[in-house]
Amino acid sequence: MPNSPLILSGKEVSLAVKAELKGRIEALAGKGIKPGLTAVLVGEDPASQVYVRSKERQSAKLGFNSNVLRLDASTSQDELLKIVEGLNKDPEVHGILVQLPLPRHIDDQLIIETIDPEKDVDGFHPVSVGKLVLGLDGFVSCTPAGILEIMKHYNIETEGKHVVVVGRSNIVGKPMANLMIQKRDLANATVTLVHTRTPDMGVHTRQADILIAAAGVPEFIGDDMVKDGAVVIDVGINRVDDATREKGYRLTGDVNYEAVLGKVSAITPVPGGVGPMTIAMLLSNTVKSAENSIK
Ligand code: NAD
Repeated sequence: MPNSPLILSGKEVSLAVKAELKGRIEALAGKGIKPGLTAVLVGEDPASQVYVRSKERQSAKLGFNSNVLRLDASTSQDELLKIVEGLNKDPEVHGILVQLPLPRHIDDQLIIETIDPEKDVDGFHPVSVGKLVLGLDGFVSCTPAGILEIMKHYNIETEGKHVVVVGRSNIVGKPMANLMIQKRDLANATVTLVHTRTPDMGVHTRQADILIAAAGVPEFIGDDMVKDGAVVIDVGINRVDDATREKGYRLTGDVNYEAVLGKVSAITPVPGGVGPMTIAMLLSNTVKSAENSIK
């Protein structure tokens, strides 16, 4: 049984990704191009505001043309569609990000499908998802793409391994499973995807060489659900009440970190694991889009 597992620091990997992007951004600058990322935020959801501010700050720091359109919660679907269509036509905008969830009177899927797939840096458009499934080059949803970068950075072998993904959301679980089944490096895995309708989930998770937890349930994966020596990627970011903290809460993953630590060979912490990778990959996708614009 491994005693001290490798701690997979997404924070460290995200810095490496951003350092690599700097060179590409300079090359683009030499051609008179500045990567342009526009985020659209409708309403005042506090978590979305924090997330969008962080994207804005980090993209501006890298020298992007970074914009946030902050729209009133009462913005109509038609108004939002027109705004997205305008961004599609703007040559200075290489990436469009519409922060989800949108207010209930707006159809998320309709808005996603209106974004030009060439500017779909979130990788949510059906064209991007289709390319991912077919193994074609395209924009990959940022969180799964970030997990792949972590595995690459730490030389985690995936070929022939059994990867078990917990959760089937469109932004994490499904794209993650699809990435891992591809016939290429950093994939070639045997994949099982479990979800709320899976009876006795532990039967599957205990077989995982690589366990990727993306359910959004605080610390529900304990040592009884993990195989000795497994690699554990914890995507969950959950707020749990904690009176000992100044804010009254702490962030925790889907995995009971302390409980599995003595059993696993490698694990991502929360925070500082998968979290920092999501924005790094958004920036990476935007640089890729800017490069594509001159091909
Ligand atoms: P989601 O709620 O859209 O999907 C969760 C999925 O997990 C669903 O498919 C559901 O069937 C499954 N699930 C829920 N409870 C389960 C259970 N008890 N057993 C098995 N399956 C279960 O969530 P999401 O957007 O995929 O996010 C998942 C988690 O990852 C959340 O905690 C979210 O905050 C976090 N997240 C983190 C990042 C990041 O940057 N690290 C990015 C996206 C999401």
